[in-house]
This record gives sequence, C-alpha cells and structure tokens, in this order.
Amino acid sequence: MTQLDSDGRLLHLLTLEGLPRQTLCRILDRAGAIRDTALGRTQKRDTLVGRTVCTLFFEPSTRTRSSFQIAAQRLGADLINFDASTSSARKGETALDTLRNLEAMGVRGFIVRHPEDGAAQMLARHAHEGTAVINAGDGRASHPTQGLLDMLSIRQAKGPDFSMRKIVMVGDIKHSRVARSDLQALRTLGATDITLCAPDNLLPEPAVSAGCRTTGDFDAALQGADVLMMLRLQRERMEEGLVTSLEDYHRHYGLTAARLKQAAPDAVVLHPGPINRGVEITDEVADGPQSLVLRQVGNGVAIRMAVLEMLLG
Ligand code: ASP
Repeated sequence: MTQLDSDGRLLHLLTLEGLPRQTLCRILDRAGAIRDTALGRTQKRDTLVGRTVCTLFFEPSTRTRSSFQIAAQRLGADLINFDASTSSARKGETALDTLRNLEAMGVRGFIVRHPEDGAAQMLARHAHEGTAVINAGDGRASHPTQGLLDMLSIRQAKGPDFSMRKIVMVGDIKHSRVARSDLQALRTLGATDITLCAPDNLLPEPAVSAGCRTTGDFDAALQGADVLMMLRLQRERMEEGLVTSLEDYHRHYGLTAARLKQAAPDAVVLHPGPINRGVEITDEVADGPQSLVLRQVGNGVAIRMAVLEMLLG
C-alpha cells in the first residue's frame, strides 16, 4: 500500500518512511503558517465544512486524540469519536467492519490508533477511493504526526538545518513508534549526528538504528548535545523484566537538571508524553525553560490541521 498516488499526491498518512522531503516540508511549513488558528488565536477555518471525520481508537490516548479532534473542529469538519471500549468492538466487530460501516454513513476521514503494527495500512488498503486514513499510532511501528510535530518543534527552536545538530534519543527506543517515526523524519531532513542511548535490551534492531551511534552511557552521549529526545518506557509493550527497577533506570537514563548541564547550554528537551515523571525525566527538567514538551503539544494541533487539510481539503 502506498500512501502517495502516481503523481506524488498524499492519499493517506501511514508512515514517514519514504515520505518525500518536499511533502514533509510542505506539511511543516503549512503547520507553521496556521499555528495561530490551531491554538485558537484566530477565527477557525471552513476548509472541511461538510466533511465528516472519525477518530477510530483501539488504544488509549490523551494528546493525540484530543489534538486531532481540535484540529478537525478548527477546520470546520463534523467529527465523531469511536471508542473501542464502548462500542461493538467489544462484541468482536473487526476494525475493518467498523470502518466499512462508518464509510457507509459518509465518513471520509479516519484517524486510526491500534495496538497492532500495520493496522492503519490494512484499513487504507481496503478503504474506498476518496477515503483518507491517518495513522495515529500502530503498535511499535509508526506515529507519523508525532514525528512531524517533533520536527516542527526542533525546527522552530534550532532552525531548518538539521545537519548541524547533535541529536540524542534516550530511553525505550526498541518499543517506541515515536522513535521510529522521528528517526525516519530526521534522516529525511538531513540529520547525520544522531545517538541512540539506552540499555542494550531497549536498543532497537539494526534496521532502525542504521546510521546512528548507539551507546548505553547517557553521560557520555549528553556531552554537547543540542536536542534531547526523551522517550517513555513502553511498559505495555514490554516483555516482563526488561528493566530491573524504575529507580535503577532513572539513575542511569533519567534526565535531571544536573545531567542537562552536560548538554549544550541552549539544548532543548522533547518528550512525546505521557511522561513518567521522576523516571525518564524530573519535574524540574520537564517543566523547566529548556523543555519543549508543551510546545510539542501545541504544534500537534497545527500539524494535524495541516495533514487533514492536505488529505481532505
Ligand atoms: N503518546 C505516544 C504514543 O502513543 C508516546 C507514548 O505513548 O509513549 O506512542
């Protein structure tokens, strides 16, 4: 399944892998331009008036779901929310049947979160022409709008030249779909100095880490870093026993104010949320002046507006 048609037009957004740089930058530019509307500072738009979009979530979510909802509303779309825990999914209805039923009611945009890798691709393959599927996180595989909002946040803070930046990604990279999408986007944007830092058993497979340095030594990785991308421990996707204890993990991989001093003085810190405070990152850092965490959240609405407009506008 390709998300682009033969003219390079985006039909679905399923992954950042192979997404042309030009398309990726177009989404970032557009999101940057509509940020004020995204944040409710100017009138909402009417680009999607008459369109119905549905958030189809088979896994919990706070930020992603609400920011897609806000994005759709600020474009004038009609919105319905499907929640697997309160729907016929509990009676065994498949995701595909659910999509087909909602398509039959005229829904044309599906924002899909699912615990299985490839779920959004599968739905896109079976969707009618004219229906757009947006992957809002599938298993460990991909979270493209998170990757995009992270790139926008880095670009705003550090400028457009990613090749100049020393980027360090820390934590549970192995189980993280955010890490996969971030790495795909970083490479497309020209980043070359990327270090992946985690205990051995949380480092990803070679295909994911290709071209990156890998290390278990956080203090060494931090020296002079410009961008620190912290990741949540994905306890729901982990086999038991991968970390000995949260205290131990924090001692080796937790970002504290003292540790942050080893990075460049103007280094920025990202975290996709939800944060395990005191595990991946301390309150002082998460809420401190170098943290981009809430900027990421605001950018999320702008990115999702830009993507919805591009696919359905
Ligand atoms: N919210 C992000 C996701 O759904 C990050 C995380 O859960 O760790 O992948």
